[in-house]
Amino acid sequence: MKILIIYTGGTIGMKQTPSGLTPAGDLATDMRALAELGPAFQRHAPELDVLVYDPLIDSADMTPALWIKLAADIESRYDSYDGFVVLHGTDTLAYTSSALSFFVRRWGKPVVVTGAQLPFGFPRSDARSNLISAIEVACTMPAQQAQVCVVFGPRILRGCRVTKVSARAYDAFDSPRFPPLGQIGIEIRYPGARRQVIGKQPTNKAIDVPANDAVAVLQLFPGISDKLFSAVASMPGLRAIVLTAYGAGTGPSRDPAFLDAVRKAVASGIVVLVVSQPLDGVVDFTRYAAGSGLASAGAICGHDLTTEAAVTKLYYLIACGYDAEEIARYARHPLAGEMTV
Ligand code: ASP
Repeated sequence: MKILIIYTGGTIGMKQTPSGLTPAGDLATDMRALAELGPAFQRHAPELDVLVYDPLIDSADMTPALWIKLAADIESRYDSYDGFVVLHGTDTLAYTSSALSFFVRRWGKPVVVTGAQLPFGFPRSDARSNLISAIEVACTMPAQQAQVCVVFGPRILRGCRVTKVSARAYDAFDSPRFPPLGQIGIEIRYPGARRQVIGKQPTNKAIDVPANDAVAVLQLFPGISDKLFSAVASMPGLRAIVLTAYGAGTGPSRDPAFLDAVRKAVASGIVVLVVSQPLDGVVDFTRYAAGSGLASAGAICGHDLTTEAAVTKLYYLIACGYDAEEIARYARHPLAGEMTV
């Protein structure tokens, strides 16, 4: 088995400096040493190559351009490896794992994203066990179930379904709207992976790095005004808004000016994709009258999409060069197993 580890940065390899934890390159040496520790791997001692990004970053500095570079680095080496492990900071890991689910358009090999809550070498760090588990998953995930996934603590989760749920616990990620693909215990098991269908990519269209300001996220709150919505919708270069609505996708229904602002934005070619704020929320516009208002204003139901998957899917569709009508059409259907319709 040949595995490529791509080290992008994050706490997993950080060192303490006077200005705080900072990404450092030493992890690459630690990882090469790990490869020599055959017994660290229960069954499969793989051949490991390590690609270290320069600069290594705190994942707070991730951008759509970097997702696209990462996806291209994986695709261009796809035939040379059996699997890929991406080491990443936890803060935006769920965005990157979602983005890779769309931007890596080749199937059949695991792309495992992981990180750690404490740096490698710190007492009680989770870095070593997450790294070893991620490598083992990259070696053992059955080909017909292989997909972009997140390995963190005791679980294997679909990459485009995860969200960061804790800044302190070792069990920092979950996919509350979708069952885990597998469990990491004494053995690694994939009980959930078989029955979980992955969507189909619509295209092999060339990817153009989208402008950062092509997508915005706007969270509903009691008091949100049509003026705020319109100000966001009229930002130059904006193509799509992810609107995080309440429970089942409800929003202000007694505020005609707000609904009118949504209607005007949609008419001007802005895609408005609605997701739910609660961790396990699912948008269903037919459930409450307060949701049907958004639907009749032209907003799109995001079903059980996470905000992370919604944002990255929109950047992906924009990067493919689709117009507003095509983006709206693809936004309604799963492309990479990111939603259940
Ligand atoms: N700030 C760090 C990062 O996201 C946090 C972490 O890795 O846990 O890069």
